[in-house]
Order: sequence, then structure tokens, then C-alpha cells
Amino acid sequence: MSLIEYRLKRNFDKTNEPAPSKGLAPQQRFVVQEHQASHLHYDFRMEIKDQKTEEVVLKSWAIPKNIPLEKGVKHLAIQTEDHPVGYIDFEGTIPEGNYGAGEVSIWDKGKWGMMTGHFDDGNCKFNLLGEKIKGRYVMVKVDSYKKQGDKNEYWLIWKKEEEVRI
Ligand code: MN
Repeated sequence: MSLIEYRLKRNFDKTNEPAPSKGLAPQQRFVVQEHQASHLHYDFRMEIKDQKTEEVVLKSWAIPKNIPLEKGVKHLAIQTEDHPVGYIDFEGTIPEGNYGAGEVSIWDKGKWGMMTGHFDDGNCKFNLLGEKIKGRYVMVKVDSYKKQGDKNEYWLIWKKEEEVRI
């Protein structure tokens, strides 16, 4: 994935969201943004260097029920387009008529570190250390959620351990 889809969905003269800019080295940050769009959801974004494009991007998922704070509870995460690194600090109101119109506020942020696997493998384990979210999490891609012709990528996320090391 690259930032092409992010650009295509937005008109930067009309939305207050950041336009992509050249990324620096990834700092292993993550953010969870509460997004009161047509449906309330939480956008989980992790700063990472894309293996193919070498761009530093925010790998992103919309999580309707948010990241589970309790161990073993699995929540659905729908992958969304990569976002530019500048989006990590974004808060505000996306104006009516624009993609994702509604209120965005930062619900949690912090640092993350990969333990095993990679997102490209559809199976990985990583540490999250935020203000609210603390623990070792697993994310697995689940093709069984796909309906015919469905372009979405579905994942499950759950907390595996309370212990965290960054
Ligand atoms: Mn969103």
C-alpha cells in the first residue's frame, strides 16, 4: 500500500487533514483516534516503514469497538488506507461533504515495538505502550470475514499479555 489511496480520497483545499509529506525515520509511535463519523469508530495507526515503497506511513485500521484493554477479548479491525505520518497528531472536525466527515480526537498514543511477524504476513505480535493501552497484542488477518467482491481486509486484534517491553 502507499499514500496514493489517501490522496485520491481527499481534496486538500477542502479538508483540514494533513497532506502527505516526505517521511523521516519511523519513530515507532502509534495513535488511536476516536472518530465520530457516520458510525463511531476508533482509528488505530502505527508508524512504520513500508517494505515495498520505503515510505514512512501510518498503517491504519478502523476498529468499531476500539482496541480491547482486557486480555483475550478479540475485536474486529478493518484495514484502511495508509495515512501520512503527519496524521498522528491530527484532531479536529473534518468538514461535511468530505471523506470521513466528523469529529476526530486522540484517544490514546504512545510507542510500539514489533516482537514477531510482519503486517505483510498477516500475523504479528507487538507491544503497545500508551497511556491507556499497555500490553502485548496479536493481530491476525482473517479472510473468512470477506464477502464476495469485498475489497476490505479484516483482522482480529487481541491482548495476549499484560507485560510489555518497548
Ligand atoms: Mn476513521
